[in-house]
Amino acid sequence: MKGARVRRVTGALVEAAPLRGSALYELVRVGERRLLGEIIRLAGDRATIQVYEDTAGLWVGEPVESTGEPLTVHLGPGLLGAVLDGVGRPLLRMADQTGDFIIPGTSGTTLDLAISWLFVPRVGVGEPVVGGDVLGEVEERTGFVHRVLVPPGVCGTVADIRSGLLTVSEPAARLADGRLLYLGQRWPVREPRPVAARIPPRSPFLTGQRVFDFLFPVAEGGTVAVPGGFGTGKTIVEQSLAKFGDADVVVFVGCGERGNEMAEVLREFPRLSDPRTGRPLMERTVLVANTSNMPVAAREASIYLGVTVAEYYRDMGYRVAFMADSLSRWAEALREIGARLQEMPGDEGYPSYLANRLGKFWERAGCVEALGRPRRSGSVTMINALSPPGGDFSEPVTQASLRVAGALWALDSSLAHRRQFPAVDWEASYSLYADFAGGWFREHVGAEWSELRDGTAKLLKREREIQEIASLIGKEALHDQDRLVLEVGEMVREFLLGQNAYDPNDAYCPIAKTYRLASAIWKLYRSCTELLAAGVPLERLALDRPRRALAALRRASSDELEQRAAEAVRAIEEVGS
Ligand code: ADP
Ligand code: MG
Repeated sequence: MKGARVRRVTGALVEAAPLRGSALYELVRVGERRLLGEIIRLAGDRATIQVYEDTAGLWVGEPVESTGEPLTVHLGPGLLGAVLDGVGRPLLRMADQTGDFIIPGTSGTTLDLAISWLFVPRVGVGEPVVGGDVLGEVEERTGFVHRVLVPPGVCGTVADIRSGLLTVSEPAARLADGRLLYLGQRWPVREPRPVAARIPPRSPFLTGQRVFDFLFPVAEGGTVAVPGGFGTGKTIVEQSLAKFGDADVVVFVGCGERGNEMAEVLREFPRLSDPRTGRPLMERTVLVANTSNMPVAAREASIYLGVTVAEYYRDMGYRVAFMADSLSRWAEALREIGARLQEMPGDEGYPSYLANRLGKFWERAGCVEALGRPRRSGSVTMINALSPPGGDFSEPVTQASLRVAGALWALDSSLAHRRQFPAVDWEASYSLYADFAGGWFREHVGAEWSELRDGTAKLLKREREIQEIASLIGKEALHDQDRLVLEVGEMVREFLLGQNAYDPNDAYCPIAKTYRLASAIWKLYRSCTELLAAGVPLERLALDRPRRALAALRRASSDELEQRAAEAVRAIEEVGS
């Protein structure tokens, strides 16, 4: 609209008028510097705009121009390996003697417009196409096929289609009605991308972390809330899953919990290789980075940007893992914006629509059959950290997340304090996917999976009861069988549930190794129980050898796995001799 001007500036919020004919969530350009902003309230012709860039130096009276479009992201080849800010601008990393920090890139486009991609068409002239159809393919990264999709809502007949080298700004096809199709497409980030159908999961999402895969597994397309107080290991969990989770594509949204956390990710990730393919990890990763010096509005938008990218690769037929660290920082951005809008605050100052927004966001996870042909299914699995103040899970963001998430990995300060990592409280945590995953593990990993899991879970529970008794009557007064539970419980925590993120042989655990460890410990428990029942005193059992063998098994590389597992079994068999 012509003639709109800035009327007021309060931090990242700008009031502008007159803006007639504009809609809520429309994108606007603010001031002489054309700062990017979004209309978040309209009262008559007066708009409140949330600006994604620094408003310092912006003055009342500067022009405001509406674009007629909501905040969108340019989806297309070149996203893999990208580092973007909350509104999709590429970030550059700057390193100097004083440390690392991140600055906005100079080129504002999400996709690199200069790269030519080798486009191979998959449909011919005269063929009808509809939204979601695979128009053609480009090899985005070595061995990674980026399917070029007809944008949702479009349909027509192909009048012309090209093949060969194309940039994202050159048309790849023309429909009979004159409409041009490109290698990429724009999508409004706050709107879920449409699918043909939601479908049940086909397999668990393997995390590579024993405590999760074994006790609290997540299904492909599932949702996990990971709340924990300061220093309980949320970031390590999120980063470990980003590195080792079994996904084709990873989208990691860093909400800048601590100053240099995101810079660390940017330093570390490019050096890592994928444990399954050996290729650089960044080749299947998209990072969305917020740092504390970026405006809150960009942080609020970032999770939507990230999940839209995730849905885009899902629609190509890929299994995508989405992680946000942490969702609480997003909720705080929402609260801050609400407060500036002088909205009536609800629970703990969060706006009344917090639970609704959070719920809708979590619902963007799932397994789907994608729109269009050829038929393909994909998934977005969501594992989001939450940082409840003081580690108190009764606060609104955690509570609203738990109403929708399918699993809870509760991180506990006292475990972290004892350096039991990952600091998962196995009494408070749960997974609604455990039965489904159990069936899959029995079929694909080992027939005794569920027996091992149930037995181990019971053992841990019993261990806690006995610990309480021991604290009253003293350890010496316990029966041998109870003391055995304490001995083996400790081994479960040390060798099975505990995992050291800094040990290259332990940071990632293939599911076969998890099974071997669980089954060796269980075998040890069973053998010892039998020996005690036969009258052999606990002191006579040689537990040191199996303990050493289990420690070696835990640290075994893939090549050594079978040998170490066999050695552990031998040590266990000799426990009574
Ligand atoms: P949060 O994000 O919850 O504040 P972090 O993920 O930064 O916590 O973890 C805090 C510290 O705990 C880490 O710096 C590390 O020393 C330790 N830690 C957490 N998880 C592990 C792990 N799996 N292995 C080893 N150390 C860990
Ligand atoms: Mg953290």
